[in-house]
Amino acid sequence: MTPRMKELLRLLPSVSALLEHEEVSEWVNGLPRATVVASLQTALENARHAVLSGKITEPLDVQDLLARAEEELVARSLPSLRRVINATGIVLHTGLGRAPMCDAAIEAVVEGCSGYCNLEYDLHTGQRGQRASHVVKELVALTGAESAAVVNNNAAATLLILRTFATGREAIVSRGQLIEIGGSFRLPDIMRASGATLREVGTTNRTRIFDYEHAINDRTAVLMRVHTSNYRVVGFTEDVAIDAIAALAHRFSLIAVDDLGSGAMMDFSAEGLPDEPYVKRSLDAGADLVCFSGDKLSGGPQCGIILGKKDLIERLAADPLMRTYRVDKMTLLALEATLRCYRDREEAMVNIPTIAMLKASSEELAGRARALCEQLETALPDEKFFVCSDVGYAGGGSMPQRELQTVVVQWTPGNVSVDEMSRLLRQADVSVVARVRSDAICFDVRTIREEDFESLIASVSAAVWEGEPGE
Ligand SMILES: *Cc1c(COP(=O)(O)O)cnc(C)c1O
Repeated sequence: MTPRMKELLRLLPSVSALLEHEEVSEWVNGLPRATVVASLQTALENARHAVLSGKITEPLDVQDLLARAEEELVARSLPSLRRVINATGIVLHTGLGRAPMCDAAIEAVVEGCSGYCNLEYDLHTGQRGQRASHVVKELVALTGAESAAVVNNNAAATLLILRTFATGREAIVSRGQLIEIGGSFRLPDIMRASGATLREVGTTNRTRIFDYEHAINDRTAVLMRVHTSNYRVVGFTEDVAIDAIAALAHRFSLIAVDDLGSGAMMDFSAEGLPDEPYVKRSLDAGADLVCFSGDKLSGGPQCGIILGKKDLIERLAADPLMRTYRVDKMTLLALEATLRCYRDREEAMVNIPTIAMLKASSEELAGRARALCEQLETALPDEKFFVCSDVGYAGGGSMPQRELQTVVVQWTPGNVSVDEMSRLLRQADVSVVARVRSDAICFDVRTIREEDFESLIASVSAAVWEGEPGE
């Protein structure tokens, strides 16, 4: 440390001196004192680091220091986990919380959690009830399954199924389906954790029904199909349909499991949605157990939904580990409300945001993009915005590379780099996560609700203002 640094450090005010300032006493009036003190400490700590690293060579202005402390205070007053505007166009963005929930689900959570609810209480008998019962009826009615179970996520569903039916035995899976999703779901690891032995069959790009048949032996318990949307292996591929796998499994008294990943609750392929297998189709094809995520295409809360044969679901429910994966009341409230939206197909397509976003037509998107573009131009006449078509992605683990034709508002900021602007947008009061290209920022209107335009424009305006070269 140079003598100059020592001198600069000595000149830094103390926290108690800063607390004497008029504006700081105003902060203390409105906010917890401890939060104000912590913000001052952080600002001072940062200043000390700046001195020691040679970034500050002149005595620091107190107003400057207080401005830093105020920034820190603002940051601390925002919750860490909060709403953001998804302008990436990726409908099922795991980083941004996957499926946004439908209004009915939000209302159900607010209503059911503000007081008590009949989570495990049978209102007819006054006796203890089953927490899953609230959604099982709805799932059964919707899919024709014999029974259903719900756990925390689809990874847990897969683990429980393998644990219950294949521990100490073998599960046969096609080599082309040994998927890794988001870096954290690797089927071979799940297999190992479940105590089941993974029996890989076929090659990465081709697996035929006789590959499964040849692999069946005394220890085989499960034939499992994993839906991967074939995104990893494209071109010369061959897969066995669940119908054939189920028929083979039944011939040898084995269990056919279909991990659908996304699992559409209804067949929406005619509506231009990604052509994902829908749940009823798989059950009708003979799968004994089907599992999928609640927060992918279904558009509900995070959970893993298991459907299938009544006796198998009963065995699953009896697994002591089931208790460790049980879902909470918020999930069940949201899930039941979402499932009820599916009672009416038309209603589901309008009211479940995931479905509505995925099926939005090019005309609809173009109209929305023009409206956003005009509003941005009005708010920021010095910046240039354009509407153009682009390619977006559905996202969501099992279908990350499903391309969707989309429409974006494109913007090359006048004063700062694209990278710097995307940082400013992320850090705005209402954070905006946009798609960033080398030369432009794109706001993909597929995932931006019209009621979010105002907040988005406010965040863009604030970011432009912050990015202005200093006075
Ligand atoms: C997404 C996915 C999973 C994991 O589901 P989570 O709900 O994220 O735990 C498992 N299998 C497949 C095929 C998937 O697509």
